[in-house]
Amino acid sequence: MNNVAVMYHYIRERNGWRGIFPLSPQDFSHQIDTLSKTYDIISLDQMDIPRSRPWCILTFDDGTKDQYVNAFDILKRKGIPAYFTVMSGPLVSGVVPMMHLVHTVLSFVSDEEIWELIRLKHDTTGIEEASTIYSYELDRLRRYNKYMLNVKLTTEEATEILGSVFDTLFSDRAKFIDDFYLTEQEIKHMHREGMTIGVHCHKHQPYCGNPQQFYDREIKPCRDYLKNVLGSSPEWYTPAFGGGVHHKAMREQLTPILVANGFKGAFSTVSKEVPQAREFWIDRIDCSKLLHAKINY
Ligand SMILES: [Zn+2]
Repeated sequence: MNNVAVMYHYIRERNGWRGIFPLSPQDFSHQIDTLSKTYDIISLDQMDIPRSRPWCILTFDDGTKDQYVNAFDILKRKGIPAYFTVMSGPLVSGVVPMMHLVHTVLSFVSDEEIWELIRLKHDTTGIEEASTIYSYELDRLRRYNKYMLNVKLTTEEATEILGSVFDTLFSDRAKFIDDFYLTEQEIKHMHREGMTIGVHCHKHQPYCGNPQQFYDREIKPCRDYLKNVLGSSPEWYTPAFGGGVHHKAMREQLTPILVANGFKGAFSTVSKEVPQAREFWIDRIDCSKLLHAKINY
């Protein structure tokens, strides 16, 4: 039987945040208990040790506060290790990435309002067809907005629209960042308690096609930040968006640079189990798909 790495994002109640799809702390706790019946839930440095049962790794993306308040709290009480990744941009330079502007603004402003702002300024031809990539969003305008903001518009164009709306919702951006992301103290605390801390990104950009430039812009700033906070260089990497549309090229081109910089492995968003002999890139199954996956869950 194969091993599995599980991918988590928000672990929280929705509490009015209409723009996100969190897993509730209660469901998270239940999921761990269920996984524990079949798998040894291990830390990353135990992956290559032979064992009688298959292993499971719990991975967290984006470094949001709820992961500390809810997931870490539950894991600590159960004595289970996990792997958390950090996005350094907001912490270092106070910039909230587009993805989180989208989650926040779509939570508190109506889709009609956002769609009007987009339509006034930009060409939306072919939106019905194109937005089907967001078919899990049942609301039509929500699909349109997400497609335009995340895919069609440039980062500058989308930031122009969302940034101004965001500022009316959260006038104190430093406070928002403090409330929304892990702080330095929280990262240190999790690390002290045996959690593995890895690099997610700096600004949450997809792979750009130039491995050295991508490393210098998206990986090195986060690695340097974590080295400064933890006193040692992080050894594990999880790219934003799983690398994005160029994820296959990213695997080929970026791996030698990661290895040269001391990384021991990296995590994809390809929904597969992990074979007995793991490779540098480790696939992950999203927590929401576990119930439907053909694994002994
Ligand atoms: Zn991410």
